[in-house]
Amino acid sequence: MASYVHIPAGELEGFVTRILLAAGAPAAEAARVSHHLVGANLAGHDSHGVVRVPRYVEWHAAGHIVSGRSVETVTDGGGFLLLDGGYGWGQVVAEQATRQAMARAHQHGACVMGLRNSAHLGRVGDYAEMAAAEGLISVHFVNVGGSVLVAPFGGVERRFSTAPFCVGVPLPGGPVVLDFATSLVAEGKVLVASNGGKALPDGALIAPDGALSADPRTLYGEYAPVGPRNPEKGLGAIRAFGEHKGSGLAFMCELLAGCLTGSPTSGPVTERGRIVNGMLSIHLSPKHFGDEAAFHAAAQSYLDWVRSCRPADADSPVLAPGEMEARRRAERLVSGVPLPEEAWANIRATAASLGVPAP
Ligand code: NAD
Repeated sequence: MASYVHIPAGELEGFVTRILLAAGAPAAEAARVSHHLVGANLAGHDSHGVVRVPRYVEWHAAGHIVSGRSVETVTDGGGFLLLDGGYGWGQVVAEQATRQAMARAHQHGACVMGLRNSAHLGRVGDYAEMAAAEGLISVHFVNVGGSVLVAPFGGVERRFSTAPFCVGVPLPGGPVVLDFATSLVAEGKVLVASNGGKALPDGALIAPDGALSADPRTLYGEYAPVGPRNPEKGLGAIRAFGEHKGSGLAFMCELLAGCLTGSPTSGPVTERGRIVNGMLSIHLSPKHFGDEAAFHAAAQSYLDWVRSCRPADADSPVLAPGEMEARRRAERLVSGVPLPEEAWANIRATAASLGVPAP
């Protein structure tokens, strides 16, 4: 059983900011990345939270993440935009890209934005929440170039990335945000499990002989309790979620976020070690589309009806997408961010290597 430390969100955010600064990120970028990572922990997505810090620091040192980058415009069609992130910190360039797309959607009613060559941009729901806060609907297809981890339906070899898909719908009572990896679990959840955190569901992984597994070693090979995890060392794969349907959605994420935007796909890599997110986002303004108040009323009443469904388990009410994250955020802002001891030791080891004292 893993034991956890609980760290107040503000303290953790300050610590991670100092680590990223010491690693060479400019102050505003360190603060933005740290805020996003702690935000993912607060939302309950520990896989996309501060557990990533040691890897980000390694990637930055190796030049795979580049500080000081701003998105550059490749194509500007008014209602559509293609932007290049130049391998900048993903949370920084994807935020810039999202802000540009939102401005266009406010102007034209809709915007299709492609972002290529972003470093790891983290929890995609963050960008949907950003749009929802401005009253915009958003749909995001994301892929991960250089990260082939997922076996397609019917296969035992890696072909897809964990390619996340996300939709956010703004409502007056809070947004509905569907945000998930198209793999049965996000790779970060394998990382968390390997660090003593929440165990993987049965059959999340598949071995080369087709045997189903929940052991992180299927993905990482043998590893020490504290230290790096390298998916290149494992022989197995994560399975795509939802059988042929989830596998098909992963395929579409690669085609739209990778091939269409000009970002690398999860296919054979030309540049080893560099993890690149591509994203195709569609932003829609309900105000331009029709009667915004009528949309809100219809959506709210539908949401209430769905949530009123009698639960199979009386202790687990039916939730709307995004509700779990809102609940976790409210809890963790009070109780602190829970981190497995091993994950916390890994982060402190990274801090120590950069001369940053731990809180
Ligand atoms: P997950 O399996 O926890 O699913 C999350 C989604 O399911 C959310 O929309 C949540 O509100 C909803 N949900 C959860 N419990 C629910 C319940 N009881 N009832 C109704 N809805 C419920 O998420 P995941 O697949 O592990 O993905 C985790 C995160 O990883 C996501 O934020 C994703 O964006 C991120 N990710 C990022 C990358 C990248 O390359 N940047 C790659 C993969 C995943």
